[in-house]
Amino acid sequence: MTVSPRPTRQAPGIHHKAIGGMLVTALNDGMFEGSFAMLAAFETGTAEQMHRAAFRAIPPRLAVNSFLIQTEARTILVDSGCGTNFGYGMGNLAGNLAALGIKPGDVDTVLCTHLHPDHVGGLVDPAGKAVFPNAELVVHADDHSFWGAEATLAGATTDMDRGFIALARSTIAAYADRTKLLTSGEALAGISIVPEPGHTPGHSGWMIASGNDSLLIWGDIVHMPGIQFTRPDAGMGFDIDGGQAITTRQRIMDMVATDRLLVAGMHLDFPCFGHVAKASEGYAFVPEVWTPTL
Ligand SMILES: [Zn+2]
Repeated sequence: MTVSPRPTRQAPGIHHKAIGGMLVTALNDGMFEGSFAMLAAFETGTAEQMHRAAFRAIPPRLAVNSFLIQTEARTILVDSGCGTNFGYGMGNLAGNLAALGIKPGDVDTVLCTHLHPDHVGGLVDPAGKAVFPNAELVVHADDHSFWGAEATLAGATTDMDRGFIALARSTIAAYADRTKLLTSGEALAGISIVPEPGHTPGHSGWMIASGNDSLLIWGDIVHMPGIQFTRPDAGMGFDIDGGQAITTRQRIMDMVATDRLLVAGMHLDFPCFGHVAKASEGYAFVPEVWTPTL
């Protein structure tokens, strides 16, 4: 008898959650190593101390998630992870969908929180072709116009910014003939856009309501869970409007804590469903406990 070598990777990062009559599935795209220098005007020593106290990685590691929403009539993706843009260990969307028996052609709608590369990287292949041939792209009008504008490209000062813009523009081009722009209201029955400007001009969450259940998939309200729940005033250096991003984060956290609303996020630790509670300093994330049945 031979003993299998131990695996080097986890089983597919897939976690289901029923929201009324809809099935929401978190899909982990991977985790990448970041840096506390990504924080805006936040002391690195304080950030390190907070991570050490919480037994978190130093340097910080950021989860990247996307979500699949299945209703009786629709197969919907919310964001798409990094695709091939973040290197080894990332870009697991295609494998996760395959593990669920979902083919790219089955996806009829892609709801986008914003057009950053860790959210739209899985929507286009390296040749710039749409990965989801039958999907309508739904995004906030302000994000679409910001990333598509010549002035945004002309104003870019770093290679990183130019890379972000190039990928956003290739996404806009690949889905140009089937894009729906929203600023408010429903994209589909029971799924509404929640504008959360600041991180990017049209950065948005998606509110899902079915039966007695609701869920806010809040996009990038939090990038570093070990820092920004306690300190919602900690922004990210690449927020397009840092002040507005902080105001938005404080408003959304206050809302979901007051309303006891279930949230999920693209950079919350997988499987990334939970609640936000008011704490002695700022807020605390209370992850939902894993259950064997939906
Ligand atoms: Zn992000």
